[in-house]
Amino acid sequence: MARRILFLGPPGAGKGTQAAMLARAIDVPHISTGVMLRDAVAAGSELGRQVESVMSAGDLVSDELVVAIVDERLERDDARCGYLLDGFPRNVAQAAALNDAVTDAIGTVILLDVETDELVARLLARASREGRADDNEDTIRRRLEVYRTETEPLIDHYVDVVVRVDGVGSIDEVFSRIVLSLAR
Ligand code: AMP
Repeated sequence: MARRILFLGPPGAGKGTQAAMLARAIDVPHISTGVMLRDAVAAGSELGRQVESVMSAGDLVSDELVVAIVDERLERDDARCGYLLDGFPRNVAQAAALNDAVTDAIGTVILLDVETDELVARLLARASREGRADDNEDTIRRRLEVYRTETEPLIDHYVDVVVRVDGVGSIDEVFSRIVLSLAR
């Protein structure tokens, strides 16, 4: 099974949940730029202060900042034998930076497919459940737009290694589909 895996998909597709489950199952670190950035905001660090307003508007943090934190994370020992990236790269420039940063190519890109109405409903439900600062209706629409314009072009960029997985269903159903698609 490929051990350098990237999760791609719109906000609300379930990337975070599925990536965490898969990382545990195949024993590689789950590297989520969204989690790292939210942790920085919560800690009130210099990085957190720099990114807070951009994140709550639903826009992308600068490539330079994100590439720097991913570079640093990938250099740690636990990432030597593989990793699972969730939320990075978010655009073609970040993908190019990733190729520069690691000698081994991404083995598989899992694209979680969920239609827009379902995404909005899920994100609004998460807003009332978890109170994430960027889960309000305006920001949700902005994040979906950013995904379409900035991130979706990555599907072509990785066309040779993309596997499309239906992201609608229970968490366990979607997870089984992911595992099956990796076994093929
Ligand atoms: P996520 O948890 O992946 O949905 O990310 C939440 C927010 O963090 C995004 O809306 C961006 O503001 C920021 N973010 C996360 N990953 C990246 C990235 N690779 N590049 C730029 N901004 C990012």
